[in-house]
Amino acid sequence: MISHVLPTYNRAPLSFDRGEGSWAIAADGTRYLDLGSGIAVNVLGHANPALVEALTAQAGRIWHVSNLYQIPEQERLAAMLVDKTFADTVFFTNSGTEAAELAIKMVRKYWDHADQPDRTEILTFEGAFHGRSTGAIAASGGDKMVKGFGPLMPGFRHLPWGDIDAIEAAVTDRTAALMIEPVQGEGGIRPLPDADLRRIREICDRTGTLLILDEVQCGMGRTGRLFAHEYAGITPDVMMVAKGIGGGFPLGAVLATGAAAAGMVAGTHGSTYGGNPLACAVGAKVMDIVADDAFLAEVNRKGALFRQKLEGLVAAHPDVFEGVRGLGLMLGLKCRAAPADLVKACYAQQILTVPAGDNTLRLLPPLNIEDAEIAEAVERLDRAAGSLAA
Ligand SMILES: *Cc1c(COP(=O)(O)O)cnc(C)c1O
Repeated sequence: MISHVLPTYNRAPLSFDRGEGSWAIAADGTRYLDLGSGIAVNVLGHANPALVEALTAQAGRIWHVSNLYQIPEQERLAAMLVDKTFADTVFFTNSGTEAAELAIKMVRKYWDHADQPDRTEILTFEGAFHGRSTGAIAASGGDKMVKGFGPLMPGFRHLPWGDIDAIEAAVTDRTAALMIEPVQGEGGIRPLPDADLRRIREICDRTGTLLILDEVQCGMGRTGRLFAHEYAGITPDVMMVAKGIGGGFPLGAVLATGAAAAGMVAGTHGSTYGGNPLACAVGAKVMDIVADDAFLAEVNRKGALFRQKLEGLVAAHPDVFEGVRGLGLMLGLKCRAAPADLVKACYAQQILTVPAGDNTLRLLPPLNIEDAEIAEAVERLDRAAGSLAA
C-alpha cells in the first residue's frame, strides 16, 4: 500500500525535533552536526535568535494580505536586493522552481515585447538543476527527472557543461537566453571558471542573448560573495534566487534589470503567497546579516579552513576520495564511487551530508558554523570514511 506521504523521496530513517545553530537534534536527544542545512537553506543555522525574533514579531502583526495591496515588508526587501546587486526590480516567489518559471516567462516576454517573438529558445547545460515544474524539468533535462512526464515544454537545448565553444556555435537568431548555474549544485559542486563566465557574458552581449543565472543554491553568501557571479566581475540580466534567502522560511525571488523585465507589465505574472509579509520579514533579516562585508569575509575564511582540512582528509583516504572542490562554504568531496554509502556512514557518525551528481558528497554547512564545528565535522568525516574502508 502506498504511504500517506507520496513516496517520491528515498528518506533516511532519521527525524529531528529541534535545532540549535549547526546542530539538528532528534527526539531522543541525539545531536547531528548538520552539514546539509536543508540543502543550502538554513544559512544562519537552526533557530537563529535574530530570525526567530523577525518571524514572531511579524507573526504578531500580520501574516498574509495579497499582492493586490502594497506590502511594505516586500518593498523593503526588494530595495535591499536592488541596493546590493545588479538588479533594478524583484519579483518574490515561494521556491526556486517558481523563480525558474518566471525567468523563462520573462525572457520570452522580452523578445515578444521587442517584436521578435520567434526568439524563444533557451540554452541550458548538462547536469543542470533548475527545479521540478514542467518548465524547470524541461530546462534541466536529466533523464531521471523528465522520463514519463512528456510531452516536455519545447524550446530548450542542452549543451555540454562548461563547453563555451558549444555555446558560441549554438546561439542563433532564435536564441532568447542562456540559463546557467555559476556553480552547479545538484550536478556535483562544479564551479564555472571566472574566465568562462566572462566569455559567456561577452557572447550574450554580442548576440543580444539574455543571461539568466540560477543562483538558487550558490547565492546568498554561500560562496563567500553575496552572489557567485561577483567573482567573475560580470552581471546577469535575470537571476533566480531561493534556498538561503529565507534562512529556512520558504522564499524565492527573480531579480532583473529594468530592460530584461520590460515586458512584465500588470497582469503578466502573479502569485498568491509570493512575497508575503512573513517571508519578507525573515528575508530582510537574512539580508541584514548576510549581505555584510565582514560576514562574507568570515564565510571565506571558514571556507578556506574547511577546505584545507578536507584536503588532509582526502590525502588520508585516497581509496574513498579523489579531491575537494567548490567555493566558500559550498564544498564538494569528489568520491571514487557514488556517495550513497558514505552518506549512510556519516549518519552513523551523527553528521548530515548531501549526495550530488558526479560522485560528489556535498558539504553545505550554515554560513555561521564555528571553527570548532568545522574541526569536529572533519574528524567525523574521517571516521565515516574509515568505516567504509573497513
Ligand atoms: C534547489 C534548486 C532549484 C529548485 O528550487 P526549489 O526551491 O526546490 O524549487 C533550482 N535551481 C537550483 C540551482 C537549485 O539548487
